[in-house]
Amino acid sequence: MTDPKPPVPQPGLDPQDWAAFRQTAHDLLDAAIDKMTANREGRVWTPFPAEMKAAFARPLPKEGQGEADLAAQLAALLPYGVGNTHPRFFGWVHGSGTPQNMLAEIVASAINANAGGRDHGAIYVERQVIAWCREMFGFPETASGLLVSGTSLATVIAVKAARDARLEFRSRKEGICGDRLVGYASAEAHACNPRAFDILGLGTDALRRIPVNDAYEMDTAALRAAIQADREAGLTPFLVIGTAGTVNTGSTDPLAELSAIAKEENLWFHVDGAFGALARLSPAHAERFKAIEQADSVAFDFHKWLHVNYDAGCVLIRDGAHHRHAFSDRPDYLKGAERGIAAGNPWPVEYGPELSRGFRALKVWSQIAGFGTAKLGEAIARNCDQAAYLSAKVAADTRFDLLAPAKLNICCFRYRADGLDEAALDALNEEIVIRLQESGIAAPSTTKLKGRVAIRINLTNHRTQHSDLDLLLTEIVKLGEDGDVRASLIPPRP
Ligand SMILES: *Cc1c(COP(=O)(O)O)cnc(C)c1O
Repeated sequence: MTDPKPPVPQPGLDPQDWAAFRQTAHDLLDAAIDKMTANREGRVWTPFPAEMKAAFARPLPKEGQGEADLAAQLAALLPYGVGNTHPRFFGWVHGSGTPQNMLAEIVASAINANAGGRDHGAIYVERQVIAWCREMFGFPETASGLLVSGTSLATVIAVKAARDARLEFRSRKEGICGDRLVGYASAEAHACNPRAFDILGLGTDALRRIPVNDAYEMDTAALRAAIQADREAGLTPFLVIGTAGTVNTGSTDPLAELSAIAKEENLWFHVDGAFGALARLSPAHAERFKAIEQADSVAFDFHKWLHVNYDAGCVLIRDGAHHRHAFSDRPDYLKGAERGIAAGNPWPVEYGPELSRGFRALKVWSQIAGFGTAKLGEAIARNCDQAAYLSAKVAADTRFDLLAPAKLNICCFRYRADGLDEAALDALNEEIVIRLQESGIAAPSTTKLKGRVAIRINLTNHRTQHSDLDLLLTEIVKLGEDGDVRASLIPPRP
């Protein structure tokens, strides 16, 4: 018998030529920095060109395309974001990111950490981020938290903890058969809330949508009545969701009152604070969000108003034991240990549905450590000032209708033209927004308020200046008065 001969060592997938790779990487970094240096200039959104679509529409490659070619194709992507790094991106709720955040991403990628558990640096960085979040929201030491992709997943985790706590964790094994749980959120609450109900087997009908007042805040008398009616019908109310910063208008539910009702009624109080909750970092706005401290859980994003590069959100849960009890389930192959790599307990996997998870915590840590909460809070306050400025300009101009009070960072209005009926005004405002996006000048989005199409200006953008808002209004008027724009409107169907 002869010993098997070891084969010639192979490089695996590592670069064959490290010097060449280093040069390629430096060049690409330069291209990325060039792009970011020019973030304030040029078009907001540039549609993905046909030749770029074609370059990506290739059959599954059997052979790799080579480093130089690959780097060129990566660099070619740089101009084609949705536009949220530009000061005149006002659509939906997008954060604008920071160049500095990319440095953390380089390090996270180089380590290639799996932050599901075990004993390594990423675990300790995430714990520090969660500790900072507890402090930001006035949560106790016993609260737990988890970094996730965004508020949508954070909401699923919080609602599951609430559901399981109410059913004494039977639901983990037996499901919710027979239990008719119901929860409450305002009519303005984000779609991720009913979706969490759907995902968790409660059904979207079980999330009662409570009407709002003229300021788009939950009507608490209607909430009390709905809870009462559900109890009388033999259902089991278990959860109230308050929104800190609604996606349509930036309104905030009366959180202190919701917290009090939840206590009286023995309900879990959850806050959807996706962007608004971060206004706690601005001393001028913190008071309105103080009652978040009373919540049983809060879901929020770092990628919106803290400008962490996508994606990064968080769930905090007041009772860390409940949180862990709702998710912990460690099979033998994930068993913890006192020493060695399997130490570092408890593991993040015990607090959410994901086992493998990236090192999101590093870019969040780096954003907070690098800028500090004061400066991040100032950027938030500036956006609120800008929304108030825009709202005042709109209110003072007869060519516009202000459609909702701008209490935080969102201003909703429409261009008004004499002689057009409601349907034509809706169509005109939709068309103005699309033309603005296509022109590359600015990127608002639209929503509907009380049945009317609104031009919706969301300010979660640290690059925006007041002059960008002046330009926006000038361009809206130009488009509104443009005969071609009006002529292009397809008459609405009867
Ligand atoms: C954006 C948003 C969400 C969803 O958050 P994602 O990070 O996109 O998952 C939920 N609620 C509100 C109020 C939001 O603005």
